Amino acid sequence: MSEKPILSVSHLKTYFDVTKGLFSKKQIVKAVDDVSFDIMPNETFGLVGESGCGKTTLGRTIVKLYEPTGGSITFEGQDIAKIKGAELKAYRKNMQMIFQDPYASLNPRMTVGEIIKEPMIIHNIYDTDAEREARVVELLKIVGLKPDHIRRYPAEFSGGQRQRIGIARALAVDPKFIVCDEPISALDVSIQAQVVNLLKNIQKELGLSYLFIAHDLSMVKHISDRIGVMYLGHMVEMGPGNDVYHRPLHPYTTALLSAIPIPDPDVAKAKSRIILEGEIPSPINPPAGCPFCTRCQKATERCHREMPQPIQVGTRMVACHLYER
Ligand code: SF4
Repeated sequence: MSEKPILSVSHLKTYFDVTKGLFSKKQIVKAVDDVSFDIMPNETFGLVGESGCGKTTLGRTIVKLYEPTGGSITFEGQDIAKIKGAELKAYRKNMQMIFQDPYASLNPRMTVGEIIKEPMIIHNIYDTDAEREARVVELLKIVGLKPDHIRRYPAEFSGGQRQRIGIARALAVDPKFIVCDEPISALDVSIQAQVVNLLKNIQKELGLSYLFIAHDLSMVKHISDRIGVMYLGHMVEMGPGNDVYHRPLHPYTTALLSAIPIPDPDVAKAKSRIILEGEIPSPINPPAGCPFCTRCQKATERCHREMPQPIQVGTRMVACHLYER
């Protein structure tokens, strides 16, 4: 692994103004609030958390679908937070995204060939249509589809096959980095592992880096070198995948892991489950102090008034007062 990160996110903030009327009290959703992490070349960084924790907003801010409110995003040494025009176009060629919903993310009126060729045309990658067509055939093979699928429409494919088309479209411009936004959540369990294994194989072959967003920690662990856990816009724990999965430090990570179903009923019975009470609080009015204090079984009076700062504990970054000395 090279020494320098391909992507550095530093104190990133993405806020949305959701104030309703002109004279109403200002309401700001702090979807991503002061998040920092690096991703190395060829690395997969898994990002987990419940719905509404800000992980998708973070992914979309990195690909510049949302403008960051503050902080910096550095890709291959270039700060991309404020880039526009030709610089943004060049960045988008290197930074692609695979979307969660393989049904909504493909234009039903375009053939598979047209869908995969479109980004090549936008980025002027080949001179002739014959070259583009040949590349589409290659990409279809890479993602496990057949060359004759090129003339078919998305409606003729299963969910797993459509996600493969989405992957081929992302690969069409030879990116260096892919943000995979819950790419398996909408798929049958039996298909999920196939798509994850396909992404792993493609990464090995093409030397890509991934930000892999999901709410299922067991699947994230399978594909990720390192894992970050988000809660209410904050990164609460981050470290090597095995450490986070087998020895979680933050009470929220522990609760997420205890919620994973275990197929063996005897093992499941012996394991104590932590039930996460209530919903994730609104990011418009986050609790004072630790963002997890309203649901944490270990919360103390201090947790309700003082925000824990991220600290290094062995291989891990964790934001919890329990680990402060
Ligand atoms: Fe729980 Fe307090 Fe740690 Fe927050 S800081 S996770 S409330 S123990």
